[in-house]
Amino acid sequence: RRYNGDKDSVGCVLLVFNLLRRQIVQLEDSKEATAGQSRRPDLKAGNVLMTKGVRTNAKKRVGAVPGVEIGDIFFFRMELCTIGLHAPIMAGIDYMSVKVSQDEEPIAVSIVSSGGYEDDVEEDDGLIYSGQGKEMDQKLERGNLALEKSLHRGNDIRVTRGIKDVGNPTGKVYVYDGLYRIQESWVEKGKSGSNVFRYKLGRLPGQPDAYKMWKKIQQWKDGIIPRMGIILPDLTSGAETLPVSLVNDVDHEKGPAYFNYSPTLKYSKPVPRDPFVGCACNGACLPGNENCDCVQKNGGYLPHIVNGVIVSQKSVIYECGPPCRCPPTCRNRVSQGGLRVRLEVFKTKDRGWGLRSWDPIRAGAFICVYAGEAVDDSEAQELAGENDDDHIFYGTRIYQPVEVLPGDLNNAPNLQFPLIINARNAGNVARFINHSCSPNLFWQPVLRGNSKEFDLHIAFYAIRHVPPMTELTYSYGMVPPEKADRGKKKCFCGSPKCRGFFY
Ligand code: SAM
Repeated sequence: RRYNGDKDSVGCVLLVFNLLRRQIVQLEDSKEATAGQSRRPDLKAGNVLMTKGVRTNAKKRVGAVPGVEIGDIFFFRMELCTIGLHAPIMAGIDYMSVKVSQDEEPIAVSIVSSGGYEDDVEEDDGLIYSGQGKEMDQKLERGNLALEKSLHRGNDIRVTRGIKDVGNPTGKVYVYDGLYRIQESWVEKGKSGSNVFRYKLGRLPGQPDAYKMWKKIQQWKDGIIPRMGIILPDLTSGAETLPVSLVNDVDHEKGPAYFNYSPTLKYSKPVPRDPFVGCACNGACLPGNENCDCVQKNGGYLPHIVNGVIVSQKSVIYECGPPCRCPPTCRNRVSQGGLRVRLEVFKTKDRGWGLRSWDPIRAGAFICVYAGEAVDDSEAQELAGENDDDHIFYGTRIYQPVEVLPGDLNNAPNLQFPLIINARNAGNVARFINHSCSPNLFWQPVLRGNSKEFDLHIAFYAIRHVPPMTELTYSYGMVPPEKADRGKKKCFCGSPKCRGFFY
């Protein structure tokens, strides 16, 4: 499996890479309060994986890489390397030696077009790629020679496109765009005045079009073309930080049954438990701060790195709340900050309405909270008795932890939670998240500092990177055996690992 991956091993390597990288960021962040640290946790995490042999598809190959699909996204070059999509961490051309009669010659197997590199030109279904070497006249050696040999050989070359992504700290997202072939090459003067090799690559026909979707979404955002099938431009009527479109491009249904859009969770009765009384930080709460009660409650760290990305799933995380003195922009108030990605509620083919994003989503990114009304077990039983528990969140079911590494079971979070939320009459986008047996989101209990009551919330996060327009799903969990007296619902999640039913 290590040397010849499948979707599971690729997913597992990327999960480990991202968990480790986020943990390194968290550790360095907390040290930074006292000493300046060198950055590049991505390289550090990648090096650990490489030295421990946690990688897949390590043998170079021509053509598609098992377990990697067109449209898959990545945020770090190191990720491409650990799954065998593109081996070099810096260079844009990946090549290997092949035997030609008694001799060997290099051929190109993969390129990363880094987007924004002034000499690369994009074309419809193609790309004009510039050779390696920036300062002086480029030479016909290494990657450039490999591309020239590939032109004559006509072998397939993988293309990964780097796209500007303002929403993430690295500023770039990489999209795997499938197989191309070199059609011609020539030499011309580049913008700096020196000789540059140019390679015209054409995309092989019949492959799914992921990159075109990216361009279309950008045009929706810029208002250049309208989103077809739109019913409402903002289902939340301004109640959220970003609009949420309501879209149907499969049939004529005009929208879901009426409900009140409400972005928060309401407790109708006070919950009789010990509240956790927040911190007294005057500025923002800092990682590693021994005087911040909220940081200390979280084991001395902040649960999130920048941009609302959680480090890992926990039994519970402690957020700052109303009694804390820190400002609303404090990094420890992620679930109170509203939506960060541009979402749409859309009509699925066979599972009613669902939720997806126009923006690429990073592993660990906060998506939304589950809003509605907190109910107790007897109220929930009543709702279930009416056979209408479509829009109810049960923290009381049995859930599998999603991020546990092999051998780390002792640290697995305990995921049953005494919270049931009814979003039938009032709720937010979370009430549209469908179930999947291979979900891309997990939920996380969040306890907010509060001097009077037990203020618990449920927040959703991405398990892995999610490309734009991919449906967001979580596992609805299993009903505990003593309560499994009702009929199970047939599942249409479409995953190869589908259990066939949910609940
Ligand atoms: N699709 C819902 C809608 O249109 O409002 C939103 C999700 S709601 C919380 C849960 C309901 O969606 C389920 O009771 C079922 O009717 C449908 N659903 C969710 N996931 C499903 C799946 N994997 N297969 C079939 N139906 C599903």
